[in-house]
Amino acid sequence: MTTAASPYLTEERLEVQSTARRFAMEEVLPLANELDKQKADIPDAFLERIGEMGYFGIMIGRNWGGMGHDVFEYALITEELSRAWMSVASIIARGNGMGTNVSDPARRAELLRRSARGDWIGAAALSEPGAGSDLANVQCRATKDGDEYVISGEKRWCGNALNADFILLLARTQEAGEGPRARGLESFLIEKQRGSFPNGLTGSPIDKIGYHGITTYHLWFDGLHVPAENLLGSRMYEGTTAPQGRAFNATMHGLNVARIHTAARAIGLARGALEDSLAYAQDRVQFGRPIAEFQAIRFKLADMATQVEAARALMYQAAHDCDAGEPIEIEAAMAKLFATEMAERVTSEGIQVHGGNGYTTERAVERYWRDARLTTIFEGTSEIQRKIISDRLIGRRQ
Ligand SMILES: Cc1cc2nc3c(=O)[nH]c(=O)nc-3n(C[C@H](O)[C@H](O)[C@H](O)COP(=O)(O)OP(=O)(O)OC[C@H]3O[C@@H](n4cnc5c(N)ncnc54)[C@H](O)[C@@H]3O)c2cc1C
Repeated sequence: MTTAASPYLTEERLEVQSTARRFAMEEVLPLANELDKQKADIPDAFLERIGEMGYFGIMIGRNWGGMGHDVFEYALITEELSRAWMSVASIIARGNGMGTNVSDPARRAELLRRSARGDWIGAAALSEPGAGSDLANVQCRATKDGDEYVISGEKRWCGNALNADFILLLARTQEAGEGPRARGLESFLIEKQRGSFPNGLTGSPIDKIGYHGITTYHLWFDGLHVPAENLLGSRMYEGTTAPQGRAFNATMHGLNVARIHTAARAIGLARGALEDSLAYAQDRVQFGRPIAEFQAIRFKLADMATQVEAARALMYQAAHDCDAGEPIEIEAAMAKLFATEMAERVTSEGIQVHGGNGYTTERAVERYWRDARLTTIFEGTSEIQRKIISDRLIGRRQ
């Protein structure tokens, strides 16, 4: 079962897709099947391999050593990687220009080159114990002290914090007063050594039910010093291919890309469950015939395939419009909402098709299900996507 023909899939894109598919099935999948069970991180040597493939630089210009592609190709590659292991599809988002938007052009060029080759892989510390969906409630403080900021407070859910070369931090430089609560929030670039925490920062791993390969941390900042020039402000989300313009537009562009990326991750997981279920159903014999001959199973597979295709069509459209510079806030939210809810259903059905074997760690389908479950929660929950969509349709509810 492969991707259906699509008018978006040019020769060049089909080539990009088939290279990623080969890499995912031959190299990523065996690693995932081994390491997910051990709750182990993606090894350093494999990060280098991802770097060799160019996947930390998909959207970085060729002049900086990147592949020079757009969001569409980023989504295509993401789906392929996620079909094998969502964590590998996730780690590439910590390259691809993240944490490179410093103001000094020479420094920026150097960071873009490092990002493209996988030598500048980050972590995002936005969420807090009291600030999840309600991100404007961030309490972590950044206090100006001469030409530095001093950071104190707590962060939760920071994926890849220990192994990162840098952490992007959202912190409050002033109390929320009158006006929007997000006022006074700034983003900072914290440079660090891979494999350790700097002075003033400690972290403790959170034991998750899935999404292994990237350890997620609870972080405590206690007087960590950051040079004042590492205040990124609104440049935090700016993608390297963001349309030129106001910072707000760049921020929206970054969020839209993240939602398309998450839709692609979810579609990859659902496709994994579908492909594995198709193979299993034709192999598994009960009542003297392959279970694929029972209409109950055939229709399940038909529904799974239809849902994957529908989600992909929505995601392709959003990625295409994004690259065309269209406003896509609703489309990206719809693609994220639909694809992630679909992935949860389809991977669960995949377990059903596998019967008892689906409920073991001997088959990848349980991993697809555990990982898909997360996609409706992170990068904005399904409820928050519905809020974005309905606010646009009907107007914001006070
Ligand atoms: C494994 C994992 C990895 C993560 N990685 C990162 C990371 O690397 N960096 C980072 O900063 N964050 C990360 N996150 C955090 C993630 O973005 C948040 O978990 C997510 O935004 C939801 O926030 P919350 O968990 O606090 O849930 P809450 O916001 O407390 O939501 C709880 C429930 O209430 C609902 N709800 C909340 N507000 C509304 C509303 N206004 N209307 C309707 N329903 C609402 C939610 O949809 C949800 O169902 C990660 C989370 C997980 C679980």
